[in-house]
Amino acid sequence: MDEKSAKKEKIPRQPMPEQKPEVRKRNFEEVPLGYDEETAIREAQRCLQCKSPACVQGCPVSVDIPGFIKLIREREFTKAIRHIWERNSLPAVCGRVCPQEIQCEGMCILGKKDRPVAIGNLERFVADREREHGTGDLPPKQHPTGKRVAVVGSGPSGLTVAGDLILKGHDVTIFEAFHKPGGVLVYGIPEFRLPKEIVYSEVNFLERLGVRLECNVVVGRTVSLDELFEEGYDAIYIGVGAGLPRFLNIPGENLIGVYSANEYLTRANLMKAYLFPKYDTPIVRGRNVAVFGAGNVAMDAARTAMRLGAERVRIVYRRSRDEMPARAAEIHHAEEEGIEFHLLTAPKRFIGNESGRVTGVECLRMELGKPDESGRRRPVPVEGSEFELDCDLAVIAVGAAANPLLTQSTEGLEINERGYIVADPETGKTTKRGVWAGGDIVTGQATVILAMGAGRKASDSIHKYLTWGW
Ligand SMILES: Cc1cc2nc3c(=O)[nH]c(=O)nc-3n(C[C@H](O)[C@H](O)[C@H](O)COP(=O)(O)OP(=O)(O)OC[C@H]3O[C@@H](n4cnc5c(N)ncnc54)[C@H](O)[C@@H]3O)c2cc1C
Ligand code: SF4
Repeated sequence: MDEKSAKKEKIPRQPMPEQKPEVRKRNFEEVPLGYDEETAIREAQRCLQCKSPACVQGCPVSVDIPGFIKLIREREFTKAIRHIWERNSLPAVCGRVCPQEIQCEGMCILGKKDRPVAIGNLERFVADREREHGTGDLPPKQHPTGKRVAVVGSGPSGLTVAGDLILKGHDVTIFEAFHKPGGVLVYGIPEFRLPKEIVYSEVNFLERLGVRLECNVVVGRTVSLDELFEEGYDAIYIGVGAGLPRFLNIPGENLIGVYSANEYLTRANLMKAYLFPKYDTPIVRGRNVAVFGAGNVAMDAARTAMRLGAERVRIVYRRSRDEMPARAAEIHHAEEEGIEFHLLTAPKRFIGNESGRVTGVECLRMELGKPDESGRRRPVPVEGSEFELDCDLAVIAVGAAANPLLTQSTEGLEINERGYIVADPETGKTTKRGVWAGGDIVTGQATVILAMGAGRKASDSIHKYLTWGW
């Protein structure tokens, strides 16, 4: 079908087939099932191929969106994925977890009168198709430069830097503290939203290009940055994320059955507690669960608890629905799976039994006052409104902070008052010569695509340094 007839026909946005809520809430398989070729082409036909595409302005790494959509329309799927790879090395990941509704799709011209083009679904389609049916060809690499780069951390920003620099002919080694690479993509985001096999296939692609990966190395403890320079590395990129959990700082937080979301999700995802006893990872499987917070992390924890067999899961959030920071799609999926929302509610103290296990939480009702420094209306406690919620598992998902292990053991690396590394936003250069940083350890917990964008800027700057100097 040509563009004109497609417009005349007014193709509706093609829905993504999904597992049914009553089935998926008890399994860890992926929720959306992906487009088939014909559906992808039909969705691609909706794109107006705008002359000045607003969608591209909304993409933090400026993928040529109309360009790759045109190639899908022409059934040139391999060319489409190669086109995306020019700007984004993790499209199967981004197609699944990027907040498209506030980025590319949020800017799509069609969204003004109708629903925007499903850019994320199309990106996912070409990436999955390449993984399943592609030739596995590697992109061409430049001649070896003899320069060595150490990348600390294997999250999206570290992987981006490694992928960019290996193609430019440098020798790259990634050091990762955990036993598996991928950062939050493997230890935080659950299997039902991002199958780990996809992350590992992206890592495997880098390994085939020649990137070396050393897991179980905690830089700052096992080896310092200065020791890496002494070993002959010419440049170092720090992409260690912001993995230190924040707590509520209320009484009873150390009771058995109160987890940080970080620990809960790491046990469930990375250490596969959901496959117990095949994997020997203990986890409290609550029947009546309370999750504190309302971001993506809270939704992931709540939906994981449901899949681990909970009868009732409640999200407890001190603001109202309008302020919930999670992606709309994740809130919708959680609701469909039966997660309940207790809004304008703040925890005051956890209550436990004589064996030290959590049995409930005392809460306060809140009302919204004037906006605070974040621009959101400040929640104010309603005096005397205390009430009790019973629970046998509580998960705290109220944000994360910078882990001081590496930064405090490294001389010459400036950090800000919140413990994040100070780096030039355009180049990623830190105050220590030969050291760059990017992703969550610079910005605080943000998004996969922003971490990748920071990695891209830093890899350009590292390449310039290795070619012309600091
Ligand atoms: C549960 C959860 C859900 C999320 N959902 C989304 C979502 O849907 N969409 C989205 O865009 N973003 C989401 N995010 C945020 C996103 O995942 C992060 O912004 C992104 O992963 C940051 O990438 P990074 O490379 O900076 O760090 P990370 O992904 O945190 O990776 C850092 C890596 O460095 C390693 N490391 C740390 N210290 C050391 C050390 N000293 N030595 C060696 N290695 C070290 C860590 O083990 C880790 O593997 C979510 C985050 C969480 C926690
Ligand atoms: S703004 Fe929307 S319609 Fe226009 S090129 Fe981008 S995706 Fe296509």
